[in-house]
Amino acid sequence: MLTPMLTIDRLGKDFGGIRAVAGVNLRVAANEILGLIGPNGSGKSTMVNLITGVFPPTGGRITFREEDITGWLPHQVLAAGIGRTFQNIRLFRGLTVWQNLWVAQGARAAGRGLFRRWLGIDRERLTQIEATLDFCGLGNKRDELAGSLAFGEQRRLELARILAADPELLLLDEPAAGMNVAEVGELRERILALRGRGKTVVLIEHHMELVMTVADRVAVLNFGEKICEGSPAQVQDDARVREAYLGVRRER
Ligand code: ADP
Ligand code: MG
Repeated sequence: MLTPMLTIDRLGKDFGGIRAVAGVNLRVAANEILGLIGPNGSGKSTMVNLITGVFPPTGGRITFREEDITGWLPHQVLAAGIGRTFQNIRLFRGLTVWQNLWVAQGARAAGRGLFRRWLGIDRERLTQIEATLDFCGLGNKRDELAGSLAFGEQRRLELARILAADPELLLLDEPAAGMNVAEVGELRERILALRGRGKTVVLIEHHMELVMTVADRVAVLNFGEKICEGSPAQVQDDARVREAYLGVRRER
């Protein structure tokens, strides 16, 4: 890998006595789709929260485009070009679809100190919103309240919201959760299209077929540690990975 877009060194996070992330090293190349999998509670969402500054790490370093972003606040991370979706959908339910995109865009602009410029109606900004609505199949829903959308549409809006801010790196936390087969198929096409447009994607998923068919590489977490990393085929063949998943099934 040439200079990675995102470099994570010995990242750790303790919550009281719980070691949620335990010294994880990870590299993400520009324009790559990296799958991040692992049983429930293995630290995937915590990784996303650490990268996006929801809370500071207990130890380790996060480097984005050769800049140390460890300990940066969420709006600074977004301004730098890292966008994320939430495992549990977090929309402004009382705002329209269009307004949700407008607000998300403003958040990135504000973090870059561009908010004053964008207070006026900026043509570039409107064009980006239109393109995003179109890309996510939400053009005919623009004036509907987010809270009134069907579940699959809310998932699409969760993605659209972050795309409106045009980040270079996307961290998608279980975007297929609760989707039907057709919706997962559309999501697959959308993720591949984003890569085609030069985006870099970290895809956290339990939907194995989706991960294994879109990811260039897959990393596996178990109890906060990275236990395996490789091509989808290599990871599927790995005994430690099978054990991690079967182990969880036994505990239930
Ligand atoms: P995953 O996304 O892989 O299911 P998480 O990152 O959500 O796993 O959780 C990893 C571990 O950290 C779990 O044991 C979880 O209970 C704990 N954890 C996550 N977030 C918090 C938090 N904000 N406070 C305390 N414990 C947390
Ligand atoms: Mg999670």
